Amino acid sequence: MKITIAENSGFCYGVMRAIKMADEALRKNPIIYSLGPIIHNPQVVEDYEKKGLMVSENLNDIDAPVLIRSHGVPPETYKQIKEKKLDFIDATCPFVKEAQDYAKELYLEGYTVVIFGDKNHPEVKAHWGYTNYKAYIINSLEEAEKIKSEKIGIISQTTQSIDKFSKVVAQLSKHSKKIKVYNTICDATEKRQKSAKELAKKSDVMIVIGGKNSANTRKLYEICLNYCKNTHYIETENELKKQWFAPNDRVGITAGASTPSYIIERTFESIRGLNV
Ligand code: SF4
Repeated sequence: MKITIAENSGFCYGVMRAIKMADEALRKNPIIYSLGPIIHNPQVVEDYEKKGLMVSENLNDIDAPVLIRSHGVPPETYKQIKEKKLDFIDATCPFVKEAQDYAKELYLEGYTVVIFGDKNHPEVKAHWGYTNYKAYIINSLEEAEKIKSEKIGIISQTTQSIDKFSKVVAQLSKHSKKIKVYNTICDATEKRQKSAKELAKKSDVMIVIGGKNSANTRKLYEICLNYCKNTHYIETENELKKQWFAPNDRVGITAGASTPSYIIERTFESIRGLNV
């Protein structure tokens, strides 16, 4: 078998930065809390819990410094942190921060704001907060069809697919005179999606690694599945199955933005060790 790892895969800039900030804070404090898991990867979260990074969703339960993860938080969370006089480490990814600023700008300029993304994702919930919870959150063309307004302002969750976003923007343009679009899909996501697509096209088997709760990994899985029917989504190398592979298969590996390199390497080695 020939095994290839996608050119752009694994930890993105924002996640790497958040992890570094957590490491630095843990050198100064025995315990810190992150508001929700630091990244969507159960293995990494477990490792960090042992180092003193606890996870809580509720500020009322926290009495130590708080780490705001790369997905960001809505404005009132900063207010609550300050009211509670807690120290905080802001690891919001700068690209997410930029999207938050655009959401706020569009809202203040009187646009009907549309956020393209998953309404249950914490990043999207935070963006929504910057529009005073007035924005429409949509994730399909059908939902876009229902929005009609003189002035529509659009941003995207950073991890969405650019193809889908473009289609939604085209649909929204049909029912509005004035459209302002901020393409807030981040470079890391686009690059990762492109490399995954190219690799899937020339692979007989694709392995996509990442937390099952990671939105960007799920997107990679969907993209790969379009080009390679034999695509499998795993969290760690322990989920690999020998029957997925055949001799002389070209195997591609890609991984979401919250997958550490050691899990990618272990997966590579495990596939090699299957002796197919
Ligand atoms: S995927 Fe992009 S926007 Fe999201 S944390 Fe990573 S670098 Fe930041």
